[in-house]
Amino acid sequence: MGSSEQKVAVVGAGMAGLSAAWELRKRGFSVTVLERDARVGGRAWSETVEGFTLEPLSPILSTADRELLAWIDEVGVRDDFLPLRPLLVSQLHRNKTSAVEPRSLFDFPRIPGVSPRQALRMVRLPRLMRRYGDQICFEAPERSADLDDRSLGDFGRLYFGATMLDNWMAPFATSTSLGDENETSRVHFLRHYARCFGARPALPRMPLRNLLDAACQGLAVLTRAEVRDLGRVESNSGQPSSIIVTYDREERERMFEVDAVVLATSAKAAARLGAKLLTTAEREMLASVRYAPTVTLALALCRPASWHAQEIRVPHGEGNPIGSVLLEPGQVGGRIPDGLGAATLRANHAYAARAMDLPEETIEKDLLEALDRVAPTVRGAIDFARLYRVERAWPRFDVGQYRAIARLTRVEDDRRRTGSRLYTTGDYRMDPSWIGAFLAGRQAAGRVAADLRVRSTP
Ligand SMILES: Cc1cc2nc3c(=O)[nH]c(=O)nc-3n(C[C@H](O)[C@H](O)[C@H](O)COP(=O)(O)OP(=O)(O)OC[C@H]3O[C@@H](n4cnc5c(N)ncnc54)[C@H](O)[C@@H]3O)c2cc1C
Repeated sequence: MGSSEQKVAVVGAGMAGLSAAWELRKRGFSVTVLERDARVGGRAWSETVEGFTLEPLSPILSTADRELLAWIDEVGVRDDFLPLRPLLVSQLHRNKTSAVEPRSLFDFPRIPGVSPRQALRMVRLPRLMRRYGDQICFEAPERSADLDDRSLGDFGRLYFGATMLDNWMAPFATSTSLGDENETSRVHFLRHYARCFGARPALPRMPLRNLLDAACQGLAVLTRAEVRDLGRVESNSGQPSSIIVTYDREERERMFEVDAVVLATSAKAAARLGAKLLTTAEREMLASVRYAPTVTLALALCRPASWHAQEIRVPHGEGNPIGSVLLEPGQVGGRIPDGLGAATLRANHAYAARAMDLPEETIEKDLLEALDRVAPTVRGAIDFARLYRVERAWPRFDVGQYRAIARLTRVEDDRRRTGSRLYTTGDYRMDPSWIGAFLAGRQAAGRVAADLRVRSTP
C-alpha cells in the first residue's frame, strides 16, 4: 500500500483521470484532482432538457465491460445504473433494417449484403486470433505493435472479402470510433473482436456522467483549476525529485508540491504541460496524436420510436451521412421520461469531417432527410432537437498508433527508471472509448503505485 504521506496530483477529471484518482486513493495515496472546467467528466458530457438526457455520446456499454461495471458497483451507484437495458443491434441494407448480432460463425451468412462464400471465410478469424495469441490483449495495446502494419480495409478485403468488410467488419469495429476503415489499424478491429464478439450491448439507466459525479464524492477534486506548469524540485539526496504543480484558481496562481503527477488530459495538452519533464521523444509522440471530429443530432420524441432500445448501424456503402442511430424508449426513473422517446443520430466520419464548416441548419436538414431512409417513423414524433459538433472528439487509431503506443510506453518506462514521476494517460493510450479511458487511467495508477512503493520501502 502507498502511504497517505505520499501525494499525487491528477490533472484532468475525465474518465481516465477519475479512474486513476480512484485507484490511487484505494491504494492509500493522498490524491488531488485538478480540473480546468467548472464540471468534471471531460468529453463525457450530457445535458438535461425538459426531462430528457441529451448526449453527444451514446452511453452504450456491453457485458464485456466487466471492469467498468465493477466500478459502478464500487462507487455505490449500482441501483441507479443497473440492470443494464438490453440493446438490439440492427443494420441498414438497401433501405431495410435487419437484426445483426452474430454470436457464432454460423450467423455470418445471415448478415444482409454478405456473400455466402465470403461469410465462410470467417472460419479464418478464430485461427488468426489463435496465431496472434498474446499479441492481442485489450489492456496491453503495446503488445500489438508488430501487427499494426495494415488498415482494417486492406486486412478485411484481403482475408475475408469486400462484402464482409463493408457489411460487418467495418460497422462492428468503428461503431464507437466511426473512423475510416482504410486508415483505422486492423489491430483496432482485432482487439474489439477479441473483447466484444458475442458480448451483449446494453444501456445504463443513467448518463455515465453521473457515475463520474458520484466518484468525485469520495475524492479531493478542484474544479476551475487550470494547471499551467509542472517543474521539478531538485533533490540532492539521490532520491527521485518531487514535482511542483502550478495552477490558476479564482484568478490566483497557486502551487503545491507532490511526489507524482498523472497527466490525464488530451495528448496535446499533456505534451505542453509536461514540456519540462518529458523527453523530447515523448513530447513528439504525444503532439502527433490525431483526433477525429464527431457530429450528433439528439432528438427528443413525443412517443417512443421503438419498443426496445435499438442501435441501427449504417454501413458506408449505403451512401447515407448517418453512421448510426440509437432509438430509446423512455423508462420510469431512466434517462428518457416514461412514455416518451429519444433518437440519437451520429454522422459517419466522412460527413462529420465536412460538417465542421457547414451551417447548423444544413447539417440538421441533411441528417433528418437521411433519417427517413433509416427509421422513417421518427420524424413525425420529434419534439425538439439539439445538434452537437465536437472537433476533437476521438483519438484516431490509424495504422501506426499501436506502434506509437509501444514506443511511448518504452520511453516512459526508461524515464521512470531514472526516478521521474510523471505519467501520461487517457483514451489515446488504450482505445477511443469509455472503457479505453477507464482502463488507461487505472493502468497509470498502477505505474505510480509500483514506483512510489519502491521509494517508500526502507
Ligand atoms: C461527442 C463524443 C461522442 C463520444 N461517444 C462515445 C461513445 O459512444 N462510446 C464511447 O465509449 N466513447 C465515446 N466517446 C469517447 C469518450 O467520451 C472518451 O474516450 C473519454 O471520455 C475520454 O476520457 P479521457 O479522460 O481520456 O479524456 P477527457 O474526457 O478529454 O478528459 C480530459 C480532462 O482534462 C481536463 N484538462 C485539460 N487540460 C487541463 C489543464 N491544463 N488543467 C486541468 N485540467 C485540464 C479537461 O478539461 C478534461 O476534463 C465520445 C466522445 C465524444 C467527444
